[in-house]
Amino acid sequence: MLAYRRDQSLLTEAGMPLALVRARDTDDVVETMKWAHRHGVPVVTRGAGTGLAGAANALDGCIVLSVEKLNEILHIDTAARTATVQPGVINGDLAAAVAEHGLWYVPDPGSRAISSIGGNLATNAGGTCCAKYGVTADHVARIKAVLADGRIIHTGAATRKNVAGLNLTQLLVGSEGTLAVIVEATMRLRAAPSAAATVVANFPTTAQAIDAVLAIRDRVEPCLVELMDRTTIAAVDAMTHMGLDESAGACCSSSATAATPLRRLRRVPMCARTPGQPRCTTPTIRSRAKSSCRLVESR
Ligand SMILES: Cc1cc2nc3c(=O)[nH]c(=O)nc-3n(C[C@H](O)[C@H](O)[C@H](O)COP(=O)(O)OP(=O)(O)OC[C@H]3O[C@@H](n4cnc5c(N)ncnc54)[C@H](O)[C@@H]3O)c2cc1C
Repeated sequence: MLAYRRDQSLLTEAGMPLALVRARDTDDVVETMKWAHRHGVPVVTRGAGTGLAGAANALDGCIVLSVEKLNEILHIDTAARTATVQPGVINGDLAAAVAEHGLWYVPDPGSRAISSIGGNLATNAGGTCCAKYGVTADHVARIKAVLADGRIIHTGAATRKNVAGLNLTQLLVGSEGTLAVIVEATMRLRAAPSAAATVVANFPTTAQAIDAVLAIRDRVEPCLVELMDRTTIAAVDAMTHMGLDESAGACCSSSATAATPLRRLRRVPMCARTPGQPRCTTPTIRSRAKSSCRLVESR
């Protein structure tokens, strides 16, 4: 039970739970919520426990309700481009499963390999692709959830147009487990992207790197933007030994899909031309630049 007391945050407090429930199906969740409701016991829902804010940390005397074993991909609908999953499915596992069908599950938090879809929904997780495609809220079609008293609700619809009534799906997204326990979700998929062209460059200052991001955005619609300041470059290099230039003030990596002609990326002015200021390094532009992939992984 101790291992389920807290998430990955280092500076938060965690209490001692009364009990740990490892739900194996929706009925387990319903029964847990009914019992807790009857006895006035708080419930802390837990996905994969990768949160960095202590939101899944136990309170004294609570039930920690782990949904990590609810981890089945129930259905991939290639025609509708949706996947219906249980909440404990790991984001990266879903992405890999739909990729076999030529589809793409877009939301890509840095914890993609270890965090769950339920947790991603409850925190409205975002990642490098949010610059173009948005965050988890932009990719959910419908949710099945269990309320505090054990009642089951269904929100949303798999159809593209679903405008009648209150938008309870979006109310649940980002609610951090305070409104209901998500037990099933239908997530939207996209066609797998064509190969990406990637530009990576170092800058003397963070301000210049930000100027470059804005310049890139003016010319192309990047599907991925990642910017690291000097402290982050040093931390990433210490961990990965990638040989990053630690003297750089900032490093920027940006990708656009093949629909964006490479020559347009080449024309992006990568540095503000302030007289007397040092210039950025010559940007490297390639298809599927390995260094950029590794930079993204290193998040
Ligand atoms: C290395 C690393 C990189 C990260 N990168 C990012 C990033 O790029 N972007 C980002 O947004 N976050 C990032 N995070 C934070 C974290 O991974 C996300 O918040 C993630 O969405 C949490 O998912 P989880 O399954 O671990 O949820 P948990 O940590 O278990 O829970 C998080 C919250 O969701 C609630 N919850 C979990 N499952 C359910 C459910 N089924 N129903 C209702 N509520 C539920 C919990 O009660 C809690 O409030 C990162 C974390 C790490 C360790």
